[in-house]
Amino acid sequence: MSGTDAGVAIVGGGLVGCMIAYALRQRRRSVIVLERGHVGGESSGVSFGSLRLQGQHEAELPLALRAQALWETIEAETGESVEFRRHGHVHLALDAEQQARLERNARNARAHGLDVTLLDRDEALGRWPFLGGQVVGASFSTRDAVVNPRLVAPAVARAARRLGATIQEGVEIIAAEHDGVRFRLHGRTADGAVRSVTAETLVNAAGAWAGTLAAWFGETIPLFPAGPAELVTEPIPAFVAPVMHVVDGSILFRQTERGNVVIGGHPRMRVDAATRTARVPPDKILTNLARLVALVPRLRAHQVIRSWTGIEGYVEDMMPVLGPSISTPGLFHACAFSGHGLQLGPAAAAAIAELIVEGTTTMPIAPFDIRRFYVSGQPRTLSLAEEFQPDVLAQAAPPSRARPSS
Ligand SMILES: Cc1cc2nc3c(=O)[nH]c(=O)nc-3n(C[C@H](O)[C@H](O)[C@H](O)COP(=O)(O)OP(=O)(O)OC[C@H]3O[C@@H](n4cnc5c(N)ncnc54)[C@H](O)[C@@H]3O)c2cc1C
Repeated sequence: MSGTDAGVAIVGGGLVGCMIAYALRQRRRSVIVLERGHVGGESSGVSFGSLRLQGQHEAELPLALRAQALWETIEAETGESVEFRRHGHVHLALDAEQQARLERNARNARAHGLDVTLLDRDEALGRWPFLGGQVVGASFSTRDAVVNPRLVAPAVARAARRLGATIQEGVEIIAAEHDGVRFRLHGRTADGAVRSVTAETLVNAAGAWAGTLAAWFGETIPLFPAGPAELVTEPIPAFVAPVMHVVDGSILFRQTERGNVVIGGHPRMRVDAATRTARVPPDKILTNLARLVALVPRLRAHQVIRSWTGIEGYVEDMMPVLGPSISTPGLFHACAFSGHGLQLGPAAAAAIAELIVEGTTTMPIAPFDIRRFYVSGQPRTLSLAEEFQPDVLAQAAPPSRARPSS
């Protein structure tokens, strides 16, 4: 790679970087992806796997719907099974306040053309009899889906390579600059070799580390790294098809085709992006298991075999940064997915590819402009959501390396 010259250089070989490379090769642009570790080795490879539409923020729903249409053709595009399954998604309410939230979300979804069915307590318990007595109501969206996160980024990378993309793993970009015409990237391999790449266009798809790349060009993306706790059980006989999700995110679960039950639950935890370590503390595991068995008593009888989290880049309004840089022509950001970049990934990638090739995009990305973090040309002060405050996060145990799901 020494001295490589590319049309577009993408820093970050997660799902988003690989999907952008694929979309650019469909448009015949020369492209290189530079990934420090392995394709899909960070957030993209450890996610819960939900392609959730219902409950998405109103500003994100148009983009999420465009993304879902692209997900629905992912296996035809890549020519591989990525375990895309459209079994739907159930939001559950455990009290009157949550019920009101379900109803608000359903109105919002329907206004955007998403079909969401509201069920009362008896209907919900009749349909999903394994649920415990806490449930007061449910909403069901059949278009929501799941995918196997461990399969998808490598499958997209292989498809992009087949179209002619260069995807270079094991190269960390340690600095980059723009000389007024081209970008120059300085890379380092694990054995200490120094490599350089020049490119006309640069894409920042560096996940939780995207703030560092933005800073090289004098821009502020107020990212903070965090991750939701995930657990998985031993395989058990099939009992549920859709994703089941208490609407406040306190507990959610789905069953894989092998029978394992994958369990998620908020609040998210602060993780360490600098050392790339993340761990679910034991008290968090116990809290989430207690919530799970209260919701689904029959799961009490089964073993949890693994816990993990990952390093995801969040911003205070929990929406991505998508679009051109404000400091440097030819630089584009695709980051800050705040816990739902798996679902948004294909539409985010299409938007960036269209902006690069056509100079404009049909994707509804206006709410995701980096300028929302600036006031009078100066970066705004970051205000962390309650769940990310230091006193809440301080409860996390010392970290260890993030682990993938089964
Ligand atoms: C535990 C967990 C569960 C989740 N569940 C869901 C879910 O169910 N549904 C959903 O929609 N989303 C979910 N998410 C969020 C989703 O996984 C992410 O939003 C999405 O994967 C982001 O993809 P990405 O390509 O932007 O980032 P990443 O996958 O993090 O990729 C960024 C890549 O950039 C590389 N990189 C960074 N800096 C450099 C550098 N200087 N040089 C070279 N390479 C560099 C990193 O090594 C990394 O591989 C979850 C996240 C986590 C952590």
